[in-house]
Amino acid sequence: MQVYLDNAATTPMDNQVIDKMTEVMRDVYGNASAIHAQGRKARAVVEMARKEIAKILNCESFELVFTGSGTEADNMALRCGVNDLGIKHIITSTIEHKAVLDTAKELDDKGLAEIHYVKIDVFGRADLNHLQELSAKYEGALISLMHANNEIGTLNDIHAISKIARENGCYFHTDTVQTIGHYNLDLKALDVDFITCSAHKFHGPKGVGFLYKNKALKIKPIVTGGSQESKMRAGTENVTGIAGLAKALEVASRNIEVKIDTVTRIKKYFMEQLQSKIEGVCFNGDTSDAGGLYTVLNVSLPPSDNASTLLFQLDMNGICASGGSACNSGAIGDSHVLVGINHPANRSAVRFSFSKFSSKAEVDYAIAKLAELM
Ligand code: PLP
Repeated sequence: MQVYLDNAATTPMDNQVIDKMTEVMRDVYGNASAIHAQGRKARAVVEMARKEIAKILNCESFELVFTGSGTEADNMALRCGVNDLGIKHIITSTIEHKAVLDTAKELDDKGLAEIHYVKIDVFGRADLNHLQELSAKYEGALISLMHANNEIGTLNDIHAISKIARENGCYFHTDTVQTIGHYNLDLKALDVDFITCSAHKFHGPKGVGFLYKNKALKIKPIVTGGSQESKMRAGTENVTGIAGLAKALEVASRNIEVKIDTVTRIKKYFMEQLQSKIEGVCFNGDTSDAGGLYTVLNVSLPPSDNASTLLFQLDMNGICASGGSACNSGAIGDSHVLVGINHPANRSAVRFSFSKFSSKAEVDYAIAKLAELM
């Protein structure tokens, strides 16, 4: 049996997205910058996709810049913030995605901006009192705090963070790569400068995402050499990918409450089964409905002789899971997030992540194998 429980790393594509992309790939081959009929057809696909996404997120379509990944969009938020908005301080946490952490570190190393890490609690949630202090001290800073942590699922209260940012004259970027398509975000209600998206996290294609940038901001591109994306990101547009992204978001946003309910049930069932079958198991991050991302479950396992090869053995049994962030090779024990929340070094952690395609049968199989291996 093949069991895919690594949906925070990436998701299988939805058939509706595949159909849409196939149609565009076959029929719309023009360069969206060309002025002839085929070019105009491609331009229409790109602009229609932008409009649909803007409608879903309740923002202006010109506030969206298509990128080649969530990583690129995070890079843009930080680099453009520092290059173009005069930002000298970045307030972030030690458990952000590396797209944010490594970029902030580079900007700090080059003397362009100074990093300040906000304290986090045992769940990995930003300490808002400390954030308030840092924001007051470093007025005009860029606060970069993710909506949901990709390894442990803990959600930050992005509305409260936005309020702190605004009260202190700070900019606010939130990495929403793990939450777009999983919750409905309303960007008129959330006062934010930048959010980031990656299509492959919600059954869309890999290699396409976007940066939302608030219309009040004047920034320059980091990829230069063409006037695409309203001069915000040079390079011929990935028309097929952009169409797939818009389709994936449309599908994901339809009946989202039903999806949340279904996937939450699967996750809870997984938790109950684990607790009844494996003694000493516990969970990293916030697993409550309000405080944790319903697609992610980070399991902390008691010490065992098999710990170091657990992921490999799960894989041998057809189960795809992850030791943390897929972007970090999946090796158990090297996760900066687990270090950040002081996960005991003698326990191993495995991230199981779910999607609308996850089934009870998959959970039963995975739990039985895991119990056998422990
Ligand atoms: N940010 C978060 C929170 C993620 O989980 C990921 C992917 O793992 C990224 C950014 C990077 O997105 P992409 O895979 O599109 O580069």
